[in-house]
Order: sequence, then C-alpha cells, then structure tokens
Amino acid sequence: MKLMLTCEHASNRLPAAFKKAIPAEVLKTHRAYDIGALAVFRKLVKFAKPEFYCEGKFSRLFVDLNRTITNKSAFSEYYEQLDKATASKVKAQATAYWSEYRTVIEKFVKANAKKEIIHLGIHSFTPELNGKVRNTDIGILYDPSRPKECELAQVIKAEIKRLHPEMKVRFNYPYKGTSDGLTTTLRKKIGPRYAGLEIEINQKFFK
Ligand SMILES: [Zn+2]
Repeated sequence: MKLMLTCEHASNRLPAAFKKAIPAEVLKTHRAYDIGALAVFRKLVKFAKPEFYCEGKFSRLFVDLNRTITNKSAFSEYYEQLDKATASKVKAQATAYWSEYRTVIEKFVKANAKKEIIHLGIHSFTPELNGKVRNTDIGILYDPSRPKECELAQVIKAEIKRLHPEMKVRFNYPYKGTSDGLTTTLRKKIGPRYAGLEIEINQKFFK
C-alpha cells in the first residue's frame, strides 16, 4: 500500500502578471484558498510520512488544480479583469502550472499502479455560504460505488469520532466525491487499485 497526500488549495499566492486583477481582500478569503488546510496537511505529512505528497503553490483563482482544465470553472472570473492579450498569456501560464502539478502526481500513481494507492486530498470549507450555516465539522468525500473508498471513509469517520466524539462528520458533504476533481480523474485513469478520498475541514477551526 502506498499513501499519497495532496493539498490542491494550499496557497493564496498569485503570479506577478495576475496580481492586479484580484483585490487584496479577496485573497484573504476562502475564495482564494482553503484556509487552514496547509497547516493540517503539513502536520499529516510529518505524522503519516506518505510515499508521496504535493501541495499547490498558487491560488485557485489563478487555476483550480482540483478541476479538469477543460472545465470552465478551472479559471476564475477574475480573468475578465485583464485585457485579452494578458488574459491569454496568464491562462497559458496557468495551464502549464496545472499540467506540471497533475503530471507529477500521475507519474507517481502510474509508477505504483501495481500496488494499492490511498490518496487523501486535504481541503477546507467556509462555515457559511450564501447565508447558510454548514452544520458539519468534517466532511469525507468519496465515490460510494467504490468499496475500498466506502471502507476507508468508515474507518476515518470512526477514528475521528473515537478521538473527538463531539465532532459532526458527514459523508460527501459539503460536496460530492464524484464531482469533477483530481480524485475523479485518477479513478478513471488508474482503476480499482486507487482509492481517493477528500477530507473537508470546517474553516471555523482556523479562526
Ligand atoms: Zn479545496
């Protein structure tokens, strides 16, 4: 078994060419990155010593590493703030960065394709969205049609509840594990030996 940890939305950094398109106050919000996720991710890396790990270096407003590049939502609305020439230049830069991130991961996964791979993506979610309070502490996202992922989700939930019985843990909340993302892509490419789960932590813990 090989363990892989990733953190796609770790950073709110922007490349120089894109900086003027995004207001500084937006960069501090959950729109720009997963607040708190990087600290948890780095602790997990230290603790679990995964065979492979990697973290995003730029804000998802530049490009969302957890979307297929052909998905319109991979690129934020802030591209509209740029003139056409700059926008296409920055998009090309973003696409190259996206490909590089995905290639490193796929290389590891393919090199170990004969072994079982467990992938945990570490994310966080905003406690309130559009005026609605999300009444969950930790979400575990996976594909319910994949037995190994179902089993792992149960194990992780049981362990969280053992350590912190007060915590509200929900499956496939606030998003579905089967939506477009890195795990979805890897499931298709690698097949049943791969199990990809995303851990979504409520950002209220990081305030
Ligand atoms: Zn995320």
